[in-house]
Amino acid sequence: MIRGRIPTRPQEARYKAKYEKMNKRSPSANPVVLPQARRQPFGVADLFKVGIGPSSSHTVGPMKAAAEFRGTLTSGMHDGRPLEVARLRVVSHGSLAWTGKGHATDRAIVLGLAGERPESIDPDQAEAKARRIDIDKRLRLRVDLEIDFDPSTDVVFDFGEPLGRHPNAMTFEAFGRGGALLLREIWYSVGGGFVEREGDDVDGAHLSPAVVPYIYANARELLSLATQTGLSVAGIALANEEARSSEAEAYAYVDRIAAIMADCIERGLSHRGILPGGLKVRRRAAEMHSRLVANRFANVRPPNEAMDYASVYAMAVNEENAAGGRIVTAPTNGASGVIPAVVRYYREFHEGGNDGIRTLLLTASAVGDLIKRNASISGAEVGCQGEVGSAAAMAAAGLCAALGGTPQQVLNAAEVGLEHHLGMTCDPIGGLVQIPCIERNAFGAVKAINAASLALHGDGSHFVSLDQVIETMRQTGFDMKSAYRETSRGGLAVNVPEC
Ligand code: SF4
Repeated sequence: MIRGRIPTRPQEARYKAKYEKMNKRSPSANPVVLPQARRQPFGVADLFKVGIGPSSSHTVGPMKAAAEFRGTLTSGMHDGRPLEVARLRVVSHGSLAWTGKGHATDRAIVLGLAGERPESIDPDQAEAKARRIDIDKRLRLRVDLEIDFDPSTDVVFDFGEPLGRHPNAMTFEAFGRGGALLLREIWYSVGGGFVEREGDDVDGAHLSPAVVPYIYANARELLSLATQTGLSVAGIALANEEARSSEAEAYAYVDRIAAIMADCIERGLSHRGILPGGLKVRRRAAEMHSRLVANRFANVRPPNEAMDYASVYAMAVNEENAAGGRIVTAPTNGASGVIPAVVRYYREFHEGGNDGIRTLLLTASAVGDLIKRNASISGAEVGCQGEVGSAAAMAAAGLCAALGGTPQQVLNAAEVGLEHHLGMTCDPIGGLVQIPCIERNAFGAVKAINAASLALHGDGSHFVSLDQVIETMRQTGFDMKSAYRETSRGGLAVNVPEC
């Protein structure tokens, strides 16, 4: 069943009944393909990408896939034949349909087809550009090729059964003048802004093609490498980055990411008002921050001051994300507030400097890589435990390392950070990345700081290993009904009326 609009209430009830039947038949009716068979670690640029809000899998990934499809079209040839495109059609399937409207998936696809990319798009201009296409119903593919294109009918949501391989799928089709199909591609947005085209190598090796010196499959092997070499987790991550570029380039990238995270907090703290999307959610970070600063000048130090600041910084980022602002996926947009908040907390409450922030982010990327390769960082695959839980584990490990933790303590911090998010579902109200997402990032940051602290109080030995927690998260996610995996068909999304 294909519709160009979000379903009406009666339609939604019918679809819900259908999905409930599917879920009864199989708790994993929304398919999950886990884990990824990949030996080579993902790099810093894979885990931390510059994008726009509100979602890495539902906004950044679809825009990227659409831009790639446009690239194939505009190159003008396919299988040796010129492509004279007259019409385009894009279908979003599975979770990309169910929460597509709230996550602005259709708008992201339109902007991608118009040649925009998440890392370079100007968030302040994006809305105007998309609106222009809505009004003109024209899309320029090349200097000499402009076609009729009506986003309301040419970009559609398919509320039927998701495609087999992954809950986040898109079908792109290009037709010639006589209506003949010229090109058809299926793309998957697999979380954290990663995309894969059907038929391509799913290893993701194209993202980080260099062969790195330190290959490990899990946390146990990473720790063993650290023991053998005497390197820290950040040192191993840096050595692998050097193989992909150079030390200077790796540091430049990490510094740029840290700067964009810091900017995002500042933007979030300077904006007030209502977030877009229709839920009428009020931005709170700016007001809370003003109150905290005023208290400081009045010499009033609340007992939870450090945690209050960490919460406010996380919320500032996620409010910016919800408003479609410039974001670093860390490791996803939905969870993008946790790591920037912990970085800022480290800077302000531990007088952390740039070297410590580099250590924090490199360590966090190594932990994010372990989770992505052995389980998932996608809410559509494993629920929110894979998004905010992963971000908390990454931040906890990074903070622990920046504060001088040993590799054992660092992996212990990651384990604690993830363990206490196990089972957390993804149930955003109205399909918007606002409730529970914004506050959830504040909790993720606070838990990360607590996890780092607990690990630093110990000697690194721990009852449950990081590998065991990652595997538990994978299994728990696999057992979760699709209603709790970024479809807004369960949890808060159905029990809290949208008003
Ligand atoms: S509930 Fe968690 S996983 Fe779901 S959209 Fe919100 S932040 Fe992302």
